[in-house]
Amino acid sequence: MAILERFSLGDLDAIRVGRANRGITLSFIIYRCDNTLIDFGPANQWQHVKPFIEEKTLDQLLLTHHHEDHSGNAHNIAKTTGLTPYTSSSLAHKMSEGIKVPYYRRIAWGSYKPTPFRTLPEHPLQLSNGDTIEALFTPGHTAEMHCFHLADRGWLFSADLYIANKISLMTAGEDVSLMIDSLQRCIELDFDTMFCAHRGIVNEGKSALIAKRNYLTELAEQCSSLWQQGHNSEHITLKLLGKEGMLKRVSNGKYCKHNLIKSCLKHHQLNPNERP
Ligand SMILES: [Zn+2]
Repeated sequence: MAILERFSLGDLDAIRVGRANRGITLSFIIYRCDNTLIDFGPANQWQHVKPFIEEKTLDQLLLTHHHEDHSGNAHNIAKTTGLTPYTSSSLAHKMSEGIKVPYYRRIAWGSYKPTPFRTLPEHPLQLSNGDTIEALFTPGHTAEMHCFHLADRGWLFSADLYIANKISLMTAGEDVSLMIDSLQRCIELDFDTMFCAHRGIVNEGKSALIAKRNYLTELAEQCSSLWQQGHNSEHITLKLLGKEGMLKRVSNGKYCKHNLIKSCLKHHQLNPNERP
C-alpha cells in the first residue's frame, strides 16, 4: 500500500500509512508540525514514510508511547535526520534497549529496532515561531503515554487517548481508571482541535474526549450495578458488550472485551477474580 491519505493544516502536514485501508485501527497518521515530528509510524511502512521525512528539515522528534505503530520507524528516522528522539523519562531507556512486539501486532505493523532516545525536558519545547509544545502525562492506554499540547494554537496531539467515543476491547495492560483521569486532565486544557494518531483531525476535540470519558464512566457504573446483582465478569461482558469476536482469537486472548469489563470493575474497587 502507498500513502493512504495526505493532509495539511497551516504548517502541519500529515500522512496516513498502513498495510490495509480498512478501518482506522489498521492505519496510522504521522504528524509533522513545523519543525517537529510527532510519532514515527510502523516499520513495515518505512518505504512510504521515508520521502515524507526527507522533504523538510526537522529539528525535533517526539514519541508519545512505545507501541510499534507509533515507534517502529524511530531507528530509520533518527538515522535519516541525525536527531535523537525525545520521549518520557520512564520510556527512554526501554526504547534504547528495545521492546518485544507481540506476534499479532508484528504482523500488522512490523517490529521495533532498539534506538537511543533522550528524556523530554522539564520545560516545554518550542516550534520555530516560538509556539510552545507541552508534554502531558496521560497514562491508561499504556503506563507511560504522553499527549502534546500546543496551547498557543488550541491544539492537542492525543496519541491513542481518544481513537473513538466508544471502545469495546482492551489489553490486560490498559487501565480504565487511569484513562478516565487522563481524559479529564486533557478536557480541562485550553484546546479545540485534536490530532488523533488513527482518527485524524477531530475539530471538536474536547467534545470527543468528553464523550469518551462519559462512555467509560457509564460503562463502569453499569458493570458495578450488574456485579451488585450477583453477575460475574464473564456474564457482565456478554450482557454489555456481547460475544468476543475474531480479535480475541487473533491476539491469543490478549485483546478482548473481558479485559475492558474487568478494568471497569476494578475502577469501582471490585475484584473480578473474587467471583469465578
Ligand atoms: Zn497505542
